[in-house]
Amino acid sequence: MDLRYVHTICPYCGTGCGLYLKVKNGELIGALPSKTGSVSQGRICVKGLNCWEIVAHKDRLKKPLIKKKGRFEEATWDEALDFTAQRLSEIKDSYGSDSLGVWGSARCTNELNYLAQKFARAVLGTNNVDHCARTCHSPTVAGLVRAFGSGAMTNSIDEIKDAQGIFIIGSNAPEAHPLIGWRIRTAKDKGAKIIVCDPRRTDLAGYADIHIQHYPGTDIALLNALMNVIIAENLYDKKFVEERTEGFEELRKAVEKYTPEFSAPIVGVAADLIREAARLYASLDPVSNIYTLGITEHTVGTENVMSVANLAMLTGNVGKGSSGVNPLRGQNNVQGACDIGALPDVYPGYQAVDNPEIQRKFEKAWGVKLSPRKGLTSTDQLIGAAEGKIKALYVIGEDPMRSDPNTNQVRKALENLEFLVCQELFMTPTTELADVIFPAASFAEDSGTFTNSERRVQLVQEAIPPLADTRRNSHILGEIAARMGYEMNYGDSSEVWDEIASLTPIFAGISHERIKKEGIQWPCPDKNHPGTPYLHKGKFPRGRGKFHAIENRPPAEVPDEEYPFILSTGRIRFHYNVGTMTRRTTLTNREFPHMFVQIHPEDAKSLGIKKKGKCRVVTRRGSLTINPDITERIKKGVIWMPFHYAKEPANLLTNDAFCPIARTGEYKACAARVECV
Ligand code: SF4
Repeated sequence: MDLRYVHTICPYCGTGCGLYLKVKNGELIGALPSKTGSVSQGRICVKGLNCWEIVAHKDRLKKPLIKKKGRFEEATWDEALDFTAQRLSEIKDSYGSDSLGVWGSARCTNELNYLAQKFARAVLGTNNVDHCARTCHSPTVAGLVRAFGSGAMTNSIDEIKDAQGIFIIGSNAPEAHPLIGWRIRTAKDKGAKIIVCDPRRTDLAGYADIHIQHYPGTDIALLNALMNVIIAENLYDKKFVEERTEGFEELRKAVEKYTPEFSAPIVGVAADLIREAARLYASLDPVSNIYTLGITEHTVGTENVMSVANLAMLTGNVGKGSSGVNPLRGQNNVQGACDIGALPDVYPGYQAVDNPEIQRKFEKAWGVKLSPRKGLTSTDQLIGAAEGKIKALYVIGEDPMRSDPNTNQVRKALENLEFLVCQELFMTPTTELADVIFPAASFAEDSGTFTNSERRVQLVQEAIPPLADTRRNSHILGEIAARMGYEMNYGDSSEVWDEIASLTPIFAGISHERIKKEGIQWPCPDKNHPGTPYLHKGKFPRGRGKFHAIENRPPAEVPDEEYPFILSTGRIRFHYNVGTMTRRTTLTNREFPHMFVQIHPEDAKSLGIKKKGKCRVVTRRGSLTINPDITERIKKGVIWMPFHYAKEPANLLTNDAFCPIARTGEYKACAARVECV
């Protein structure tokens, strides 16, 4: 018997736990936590424990498919690669490079995302390259760059355990990022004070010292009120403000009117609770500020992020251990896909595409002329597709039909394309619309690196060869590039990484060899540098941290007579994103097989909705008939549903109104009504 344990990284959330894949006689049979993994430390959650099961799932795509007369037919690799290269070339020649777009993936390795953006830029000739961070944390990058000059989690996951205070807004870490939830609980057990701002009374809110149950979409009114108290009562860190920041006067003036009494009716909690939270926050040092999509997925997502940064700087909670502004990344490699330049305005390492010097550097390295024009975000590529300006998309490991807001509008956009290519593990509602589908390799069949939420670049190791007739992911893009006249072949993923490191100062000191035992947190400028556990010690990348004066703005849709509820969406512990993987995993699917909507008992009673009955949730974009979960955990007037279910896709209902800066949709607040069925 051949039994092996291969160390790799969990393919689910951005916590980035290390785990061992158990391989018996060439077959995956289990996963175990890694004790030496700096994040996992001997633990993984239910998703990580069961992640291996989807690899050999019967639904895996195993052959390339080409749609002919409306039906998919199996094709040889050469047929599918030739056809794809030919159609992309024809569209490029007919309509120009900017009629094409490439979507990298936060599910895939840094190395594959590097090749995806290189393929878009060097082969197709466009900066129209983006990925699914657009649906989640793009406001983090935009907001933190404006505040600090760098758009990443400032501190390390393990530092959370040693914080004196933890301020959590718009995040349900124990469910969405269980191993980070464990750190919060550990901090609490060691005496830390916890303040949770969440429209739902989650388990985390249940053990918080203060729970502010505000309405979705009122974060700025709340944060400004907290800062109003901290400034009015002289509780802010004057030394830090004077020495490290700029724009304090503008901030002070902006928050002046947001007294707790002014904000309380907007936010929906008592003024005294806001005052109590502000005083408690200001009495703690250090405070770790944690947020997730409850902050970013709003039309004011970027401003929400800047407001959290305002609060952290005002209280001196940046640039030291166990403090900082800590966005928890949702997907395994969403940090990496951003870092590696799967974005329309930057090359790897956030180097601007419209900087002539940077452009020359990449032109020299890649041996082609590159476009100096910023590309379109994935949001704007879909809008362009609906308008007939974008003609072809190459989508890797993403299902916008389920993950983007307003599914019916996404369908219209994708159906309007002349050519859609998908590289995927399973059939999805998006692949159904494709012209060509390439079967992708899973995390267990590929090698390279993922970068977790705390900027740690970690090694992903191939446990088994690609299934059946599938191939390594990088091979597919390399073959299409070669057919379009550009050589993009590498021996293995470490060669790709070495090219990345040679062109990207923040990664210059990282190699696959160096991270064999333990990952390294960027920035890591040279081979002797140990990596950077926390950012902004002594200085921000932009010099001084910048306060922004931010006014509260309501969501694009607010309740009215016809749609009297605020609908918000989110995650549960057992499922991941749109559920393509976790709904195919026996245990996770058994625990939560059905969609539900949380509604307050008084709201349910007034509508005649019973525990075992059904209800219909209706928005201006569609309706879903689902089970009610009648619970006091949800605030009256608010309803909440998870977004993991294919048959009842929450994004049929969500609003495709976007943050004007980051172009992320407003998943967390739209107007809805509920009907008894
Ligand atoms: Fe995987 Fe996240 Fe669970 Fe860790 S916490 S095992 S990374 S899903």
